[in-house]
Amino acid sequence: MLIIMRHGADEAEIRRVCDTIEEMGYQSRPMPGRQRTTVGLVGNDGRGEWQPEPTVVQLPGGLTVGGTDVVVMAGPCSVESEAQILAAARAVRSAGATVLRGGAFKPRSSPYSFQGLGRKGLELLELARRETGLLIITEAMDDEGLELVSETADIVQLGARNMQNYSLLKQAGRQKKPVLLKRGLSATIQELLLSAEYILAEGNPNVILCERGVRGFDTSTRNLFDLSAVAVVHGLSHLPIIADPSHGTGHRDMVTPMARAAVAAGADGLLVEVHPQPDRALSDGAQSLYPEQFERLMVEARAIAEAIGRRIAAPAGVAV
Ligand code: PEP
Ligand code: MN
Repeated sequence: MLIIMRHGADEAEIRRVCDTIEEMGYQSRPMPGRQRTTVGLVGNDGRGEWQPEPTVVQLPGGLTVGGTDVVVMAGPCSVESEAQILAAARAVRSAGATVLRGGAFKPRSSPYSFQGLGRKGLELLELARRETGLLIITEAMDDEGLELVSETADIVQLGARNMQNYSLLKQAGRQKKPVLLKRGLSATIQELLLSAEYILAEGNPNVILCERGVRGFDTSTRNLFDLSAVAVVHGLSHLPIIADPSHGTGHRDMVTPMARAAVAAGADGLLVEVHPQPDRALSDGAQSLYPEQFERLMVEARAIAEAIGRRIAAPAGVAV
């Protein structure tokens, strides 16, 4: 950190700043300039750790997020029924996804919208996992839900609306499952990284970040999908970051182009909404892909991943 003294600050004032820095346990480095003196503050207080190597999150079945593989998580916005989640799971599995998404507890903007099936939704996800071998990711919205979700899911999702729910973040840090932390509705990247620190500081090292767009001024898309966050996070942090072009754009026709761009930008994975019958979806139908569209997306994503020396993660037990 640099402290810039006001023009004309005298020796005694500069000394006082240096003394305060040193009393606080850091070292001070006064740098006199022609106009002003700058005082450098060096050292750290041991809170938060610098980790030079990238975090590679290990998932059951040998899947990893943050290494060479690009992990594709796909499925409906919400778990709606046994038939719906099984059809979605089979479709995304046959296209090559490795993780099934689907909300059982849904954070809806309106209290009158479908709120999810709750515990029943978790049971249906377990059923889909048994049948397809896909891992499951689902959202927890509160402390009670987190306990249930962490018993069931392979990855716990914390949604945009809860990115700064610090008590939930801490609880997620005290349970064992990997956490997918989505960027808040209008959160800066710095705020996203600081929220991740809440989870890490409680002892859970397995955090995956997710860019899902931020509130913008243009109504052409649901959100302003900020793919530069992928490059920024890779520059600043050891944590992996995946991209969600479904919430990022809000329109199914824009999902595949932005998924391609996300893989090209170096995203460590994709989170994509796919529904067997998007027109009947109880939430986010307009941004949900038809299964055939998702199949095509996977073919294209594979080609792009290979072009940059990566590969789309293969389902467990499938030779590549
Ligand atoms: C979701 O993944 O369905 C969801 C609610 O996402 P977000 O928290 O990014 O709005
Ligand atoms: Mn959704």
